[in-house]
Amino acid sequence: MKTAEEKKTRNTKHQKAVLELLKNATKALTADEIREKLADNINKTTVYRMLDRFVEAGKIHFVTGQNGKSFYALCKSCKEEPPKHIHNHLHFQCEICGKVECLPETLKVPQLDNYTIRETQLLLIGTCKRCMNSTN
Ligand SMILES: [Zn+2]
Ligand SMILES: [Zn+2]
Ligand SMILES: [Zn+2]
Repeated sequence: MKTAEEKKTRNTKHQKAVLELLKNATKALTADEIREKLADNINKTTVYRMLDRFVEAGKIHFVTGQNGKSFYALCKSCKEEPPKHIHNHLHFQCEICGKVECLPETLKVPQLDNYTIRETQLLLIGTCKRCMNSTN
């Protein structure tokens, strides 16, 4: 039986590991990819709960890919706390290798009188450079 204190330490360790993973990733990662990369065996629900919490805290954001899966990436230049911080950068998903990346390009998010915008999901779909080169 684990004590509450031990459990807390373990959670903190996992949270750090997940953020570290996202920080070093060159592409956005799915919850499954994150779970696979973690040294410890963490159950799926725990990983999802952790990611949800990071999204709420404005540490990370996600975009839904073509397959309906969520891809998570670290917030790099977000300064304002949510719900004020809304992402306006574009994402790209490659149809061949399936990878999702954050792009530096941004779009202007419109201000709409009768709506409150909480998040944006901006996804461009096409072929990445690597896949383009390998098919030629
Ligand atoms: Zn952000
Ligand atoms: Zn590709
Ligand atoms: Zn992004």
